[in-house]
Amino acid sequence: MSKQLLFIPGPVTCPQEVLAAVAQPMTDHRGPGFARILARIATGMKPIFGTTNNVVLLGSSGTGGLEAAVGNLFGPGDTLLACPVGVFGERLIAIARNFGCTVEVLPTTWGYGVDPQALAQRLAADTDKRITGILLTHNETLTGVQNEMGPLAEATRAHGALTVVDSVSGLGASEFTMDAWGFNVVVAASQKALAVPPGIAIVAVSERAWQRMDGPHAPTFYLDLRKAREFAKLGQTPWTPPISVAYGLEAALDLYERETAPGVWDRHARYASAIRAAATALDLELFSHDGAHSVTVVAIKNPPGIDGDAIRKKLREERGLTLGGGQKELKGKIIRIGTMGALTQTDIVGMLGALEIALLEAGHPVHIGTAPKAALNVFLAEPTPVSA
Ligand code: PLP
Repeated sequence: MSKQLLFIPGPVTCPQEVLAAVAQPMTDHRGPGFARILARIATGMKPIFGTTNNVVLLGSSGTGGLEAAVGNLFGPGDTLLACPVGVFGERLIAIARNFGCTVEVLPTTWGYGVDPQALAQRLAADTDKRITGILLTHNETLTGVQNEMGPLAEATRAHGALTVVDSVSGLGASEFTMDAWGFNVVVAASQKALAVPPGIAIVAVSERAWQRMDGPHAPTFYLDLRKAREFAKLGQTPWTPPISVAYGLEAALDLYERETAPGVWDRHARYASAIRAAATALDLELFSHDGAHSVTVVAIKNPPGIDGDAIRKKLREERGLTLGGGQKELKGKIIRIGTMGALTQTDIVGMLGALEIALLEAGHPVHIGTAPKAALNVFLAEPTPVSA
């Protein structure tokens, strides 16, 4: 089995153009050629974040970007309101506690997005403005949930606490309007919707967040965003960057612009919708609830009596298809199918057919062709109108 397709929610199958770019020879990371690449990336990322703010690159995975966001803004003495909807929201809490922040949690049942009303009410009750920061996840990769960010932004606006948004597995795949929503720091990573190898975290920072960062905060060194801002002005990064990943990111932005943002959004929405339709047609239950479905990952509950991990192993070993499983509380309970990366409609239909065969072989009743047919019907429908 030589052909491998990743249906995990990152890292993803990279386009040939990105892989070819990554293979280019090294360059001087403090020379003019690399400065041009950094500038091109920062300029190309701004419309994807929906911002005119500074965008800085860190040589790290997404978690490094989150640690930089929290550690450069907050520290002991800060009380943060965290709004987790799964494990990645919990990771943000762990990071904040590690920096000595007090963290209060607004609970949400897994499978749902944050209730904007509950958030607004909690913030309205904070009349003495004890809460200095709010931690949000745009897209929760474990539960297949995507928060509706517009209403959450609305709920936070009147309070004035600084907002940090983890959009590691969301940014690029659907419309994001950081400035219009008024978020202060938004974190993305190279290996998700942009379909580049892992290694670069991309962090957009608002003016108000920079002002706070320029004051006292918990100590950071490698992840000091002020240093990243200072070196970005010179067309450099403070430390040796993952040059190859930057080459890939530059190529990925060319591809993104060629496909157009609405085209990329429609592709992800359509793939996710096709996979959800296929699961429903097979009588499989989705983990995420209506109104909270992610466009980058679909989480499907394992049917009773069926070992989802064994199905995933079979698909990987026999057909070169890698699907995601559950983690922590959801270990062994769900299968996750990612939509990001260089996947075609044909890849999706083929994967669904292979999944049917694996389910059938595991003893789950399947009327063969049900899932591909449901997906094909979604692909045949008119594109959902999306605003540019
Ligand atoms: N946040 C979310 C929503 C994620 O999906 C991930 C990774 O899957 C992370 C954070 C952590 O990113 P990384 O694994 O690149 O550190």
